[in-house]
Amino acid sequence: MNLLLFSLFREKKRRRIEELNENMVVDGGNGDRSDWQGQWDHVKKFLERAGPFTHPDFEPSTESLQFLMDTCKILVIGAGGLGCELLKDLALSGFRHIHVVDMDTIDISNLNRQFLFRPKDVGRPKAEVAADFVNDRVLGCNVVPYPSECIKQFHIVVCGLDSVVARRWMNGMLLSLLIYEDGVLDPSSIIPLIDGGTEGFKGNARVILPGMTACIDCTLELYPPQVHTGILSFCHTPFCPLHRLTFRCNIVLNMSAYCFDGEALDGDDPKHIQWVYQKSLDRAAEFSITGVTYRLTQGVVKRIIPAVASTNAVIAAACATEVFKIATSAYVPLNNYMVFNDVDGLYTYTFEAERKENCSACSQVPQDLQFLPSAKLQEVLDYLTENASLQMKSPAITTTLDGKNKTLYLQTVASIEERTRPNLSKTLKELGLVDGQELAVADVTTPQTVLFKLNFIS
Ligand SMILES: [Zn+2]
Repeated sequence: MNLLLFSLFREKKRRRIEELNENMVVDGGNGDRSDWQGQWDHVKKFLERAGPFTHPDFEPSTESLQFLMDTCKILVIGAGGLGCELLKDLALSGFRHIHVVDMDTIDISNLNRQFLFRPKDVGRPKAEVAADFVNDRVLGCNVVPYPSECIKQFHIVVCGLDSVVARRWMNGMLLSLLIYEDGVLDPSSIIPLIDGGTEGFKGNARVILPGMTACIDCTLELYPPQVHTGILSFCHTPFCPLHRLTFRCNIVLNMSAYCFDGEALDGDDPKHIQWVYQKSLDRAAEFSITGVTYRLTQGVVKRIIPAVASTNAVIAAACATEVFKIATSAYVPLNNYMVFNDVDGLYTYTFEAERKENCSACSQVPQDLQFLPSAKLQEVLDYLTENASLQMKSPAITTTLDGKNKTLYLQTVASIEERTRPNLSKTLKELGLVDGQELAVADVTTPQTVLFKLNFIS
């Protein structure tokens, strides 16, 4: 299966090279024009000779490096811990047309691991600074911050994000670009998605061929639900030093509730943290607990999991290697999920995540919703946000009633929220919905509206 997918992508790449040659855009052979001597010798060793690990159909040539340098366009999402590593790895592997997007600005706490940034860059946009740094450092490389809207122009997308919502959105975007002819997927419409994720000492890298292999939403159950469970559930079993400290802090925070002068606790507001810290110190003294610091308090309140530079390096390297393998077709790509964990010793394995038959993002099958006619709209909303394979954030539900589009509930616009809120306490029957009714649901987790079919159970 993997080999088949692989050859499809290679065919797509070959067609692009042919197009390019026809247009005579290439000048000067394999792009050596501005390189220093021997700059690409290490890459050539992989592409200009066969070896025991090369793809069975691999034919050594200078064409692959040429494609990589002159044609292949990569979109990198995220210029943080993973993103900095990715940009460096890709640039040093020969990729030259890299676009990077990240809406964040540089914080002083990033500098220990996001090595493309310096103290003078604090406050500047990450994407811009990262692009400038790589372009200065790697001759001939052209990293562009904030790419144009058109995702179609890219050959491969790499995600180094810490947000599941943003990942799912990009996943949905790539799925929306697929072209089906008579129900058969046109392989040239596939843009592979390489996705990396890290959390402390754990990480994963995966290769997604949209429409062919498991997508982000197919495996949504693997992601921990991102619900706010409050500070106390941060850790139940204190078993390592950090956890013991956290546990202490939790005990300390027990009485502090989660508001400051009536406002919700804001982990970014020093006034709030100082207040919790002071309360914690008082409680700590009462119970003879030591080790409570301002920094620890902030960590607990913000539920910070420390970022580990080496985990980012490992995962980004794995992702960049997969980009290289797919772009050159010289090696068999990962199929399709790698797990890395060095919490205790070092553990890694790979497995093939399977497509979910009724995946709400990639299956093209309308989703069934089973409810009693007497169920309230609120229950439907809760289902959409709480179901492990949907995990929507602020779903907007619309339907067609008497030939007219009707918004049943929409949360993101205050005036519409107010107007539609009474619907939440109405039953589905009271709202005029019937068995088999189609509900269109829009959410930040996907660029496309998801269609659901309402099935009444009795
Ligand atoms: Zn899927």
